[in-house]
Amino acid sequence: MPFRILAKEIRPLMRKAVRLSREHREICGVIVENGYFLHLIEVRNKSKCPGSFWLHFGDVNRVDNACQRLGNTIVGTFHSHIIGAEPSRPDIAGADHGQLMLILDTCWREIGLWRIREARAYRLKHQLI
Ligand SMILES: [Zn+2]
Repeated sequence: MPFRILAKEIRPLMRKAVRLSREHREICGVIVENGYFLHLIEVRNKSKCPGSFWLHFGDVNRVDNACQRLGNTIVGTFHSHIIGAEPSRPDIAGADHGQLMLILDTCWREIGLWRIREARAYRLKHQLI
């Protein structure tokens, strides 16, 4: 069964990602699984380098605390690319084994959902709901 993602969450994230891509900046956040769909929660991008992301640890911690109270789980991360919905080599190297990674491609306005496992990315099916 494809992973379900809320179109109403993707749309504003894609708009912001497209806007920031003009300054070569990326958005980023975490993916939360609630048993029904994947919930995308943006966190601050701490990276000062163009075209890269670094999740704000304090923000991730706050999301994680809320998740624990609600019985939800952080299962991965998302970020935007200026072009291409495939994870880069540094993306894969920086990922945890088994995590999900969603990439918003601001050029074609597409999203790619991946599972990172043993230094490889496997594309997953998703459905916007
Ligand atoms: Zn990337």
